[in-house]
Amino acid sequence: MKVLVPVKRVVDANVKVRVKADQTGVELANVKMSMNPFDEIAVEEAVRLKEKGIATEIVVVSIGEAKSTETLRTALAMGADRGILVKSDEAVEPLGVAKLLAKIVGEEQPQVVLLGKQAIDDDSNQTGQMLAALLGWSQGTFASKVEQAGDKLNVTREVDGGLETVALSLPAVVTTDLRLNEPRYASLPNIMKAKSKPIAEKSPADYGVEVAPRLKTLKVSEPPKRQAGIKVGSVDELIGKLKEVGAIA
Ligand code: AMP
Repeated sequence: MKVLVPVKRVVDANVKVRVKADQTGVELANVKMSMNPFDEIAVEEAVRLKEKGIATEIVVVSIGEAKSTETLRTALAMGADRGILVKSDEAVEPLGVAKLLAKIVGEEQPQVVLLGKQAIDDDSNQTGQMLAALLGWSQGTFASKVEQAGDKLNVTREVDGGLETVALSLPAVVTTDLRLNEPRYASLPNIMKAKSKPIAEKSPADYGVEVAPRLKTLKVSEPPKRQAGIKVGSVDELIGKLKEVGAIA
């Protein structure tokens, strides 16, 4: 089974994001960038499927500027076999990403596409669902467990009321949730080995996909600052204060 894993380069999860002075977006200059954490989980899951002998080849794809090659190299060091960089200096919206991935699926013919449930920069949570719709494939989103069961893939999903398990017929799209696994750190020998794994460079035009944005960002602003708290001397005073602000009747 061939597995395709799309990986996005995003601001590192530990960076305190700052809004640009002109409110057009967030500051990206000199900011640490990393693989989207949910995509690390997707790569890890694909590598585990390969270790179990279920997956035969793992192809990783990144759509973005040239530096996304670093993200692909990280995935290759974790155990993916080869990479595809679709170079675009402009940010590509989820629909554009899904259309490009649909074309790549057409060429590569994977049985499973394993994506993150969302990219932590824009928090869209759309690409996997759009890709499944474009391909007409089954989808298992927010996966906390993935198991092969004959010619099906059993995906346990984190839903509001608990866990739901769905049996997906293949080919299928799966998106990863936080509890699916704990991604490994790439070892130094594997980082060295990854340097010689192939990465093909493409452009959106190579796939005949128009990626011009359809949304216009009007303004990006910081959330309001949290008000300082106060200390109360007794339970009665606490209840009085809560009544004052209308938190209780
Ligand atoms: P989103 O719908 O933007 O929240 O992203 C969901 C998932 O789609 C991510 O976790 C990635 O697996 C994939 N994805 C989104 N944008 C890109 C991109 N530019 N390159 C590669 N994969 C992407």
